[in-house]
Amino acid sequence: MPELISLEEARARVLGAVAPLGAERVALAACLGRFLGEDVVAGEDLPPFDASAMDGYAVVAGEGAELPVVGESRAGAPASGALEAGQAMRISTGAVMPAGADAVVPVERVTERGEIVVVPAVEAGANVRSAGEDMRAGERVLAAGAPIGPAELAVLASVGQPEPLCGRRPRVAVLATGDELVEPGAALAPGQIRNSNAFALAAQAERAGAEVVLRERVPDAARATRDALRGALEGADVVCVSGGVSVGPHDYVKPALAELGVEQRFWGVRLKPGKPTWFGSGSGSLVFGLPGNPVSAMVTFHLFARPALIALAGGDPAAERTPAILDTAIKRSKGRDHVVRCRLTVAADGLHVEPTKAQNSHVLSSMLGASAFGYVPAGDGELVAGDRIDVELL
Ligand code: AMP
Ligand code: MG
Repeated sequence: MPELISLEEARARVLGAVAPLGAERVALAACLGRFLGEDVVAGEDLPPFDASAMDGYAVVAGEGAELPVVGESRAGAPASGALEAGQAMRISTGAVMPAGADAVVPVERVTERGEIVVVPAVEAGANVRSAGEDMRAGERVLAAGAPIGPAELAVLASVGQPEPLCGRRPRVAVLATGDELVEPGAALAPGQIRNSNAFALAAQAERAGAEVVLRERVPDAARATRDALRGALEGADVVCVSGGVSVGPHDYVKPALAELGVEQRFWGVRLKPGKPTWFGSGSGSLVFGLPGNPVSAMVTFHLFARPALIALAGGDPAAERTPAILDTAIKRSKGRDHVVRCRLTVAADGLHVEPTKAQNSHVLSSMLGASAFGYVPAGDGELVAGDRIDVELL
C-alpha cells in the first residue's frame, strides 16, 4: 500500500470530486429527505391577516361592559361588517379580526345573556395574532441546501410551494464482492457467510437521501468483477463496492476499475477501521471501494460516501463534532486514528461516551446501539475515563 492519508485529506479529496447533480421540481409530498435547490421567500404574511388566538368575542379594548353581539367571524368565513366601540362579535380561533376590533375576550371569561355579552376589562392586542407575526412577506424562510424534514415541508406548504426546487437524488449502485457470500435466506455451506454489507450499505445510502438502483453480489473473478462494475457505472452516480479492494490475490476491484477508466484519487487512509479504503472517479461516477469487514464498510461509508451523497444532492456535507467525556479507558492506535462505535448518555456535567462493545472490524454487532462515533487520535498508550474526546452524532 502507498503512504496512508489522513481522514481529513481523504474527505477533502472526496468532496473535491463532487459536482452537485442539479435540481428538479418535486411534488411537495415527495420532498422529505431532499435538499432545497433555492432560497424560499414568503410571498405573503403568515398569518395573512390579524386573527383571533381564542374562541370568544372580538371587542374594542376598554373597561368591562355589557355589549350587544353584532354577528360572527368564523375561521374561513370573515364577518362582512365592521365593529364599533360598545359592540362585541363572536369569533373563533384563527378567524379574521373584524375591522375596528383590537382585542378578543376568551369565551371562558364572559357571561352570555342571549344577544348580550358581559365582558371584563381588556387591553388592546389581547388574544390577537398579528398578520406576519410568524413569517413576513419578502422574508427568506428557508435557505438553499436546507435538508427538508417535516418542519421544512410544513413551512413550504404554508408559503404556497406545491413543487419546491430540490437537488436531484444520487443514484447508487451497491456491489458486494466475495465468493464466500450467500444471501440471508440461504443455508451456509462450509466457509460461507451471509452478505450483510449489501443491506447495510444500501440502507445507509437511502438514509442519506439517495436512490439505490442496483444491489448485486459479485464473485471473486476478474471478468465478473469488470462486468458488474461496468453495469454499475452506467446506471449510477455513485458506486459502492464492498470487499475485493485489499491486496489479496483474489482482489479484482482495483484492476477492473483501472480498465474501466476510473481514476484513483486515494487508496489507504490512516484510520481504524477503514485503512484499505479506495476512492476514484471516472465516466461521470464516483466509486468507493470499501473494505469488506462489515464494521469497516459501514464506518467508511459514513465517513466518505455519505458526505459525497449529501453534496451531490445539494446539501451541506459538514459533519459536526462535539466533545464528550469518556467513561471507559480506550487504547490508542499507533499511526491510525480510531473511530470508536459509542453509546452516548447525557449527565449533569454534559455528554458522556463509552464504546458499545469490542471494537474489532468484524464485530458487526458493535454497530448496534451506536449513537455516535468517537474519535481517538493516533498515539501511544491509552485514554482514560474522564478524558474528553470528540464525537460525531449518528
Ligand atoms: P475483503 O475486503 O474482501 O478481503 O473482505 C474482508 C472480510 O469481510 C472478510 O472476512 C469477508 O468475508 C468479509 N466480507 C466481505 N464482504 C462481505 C459482505 N458483503 N458481508 C459480510 N461480510 C463480508
Ligand atoms: Mg473478499
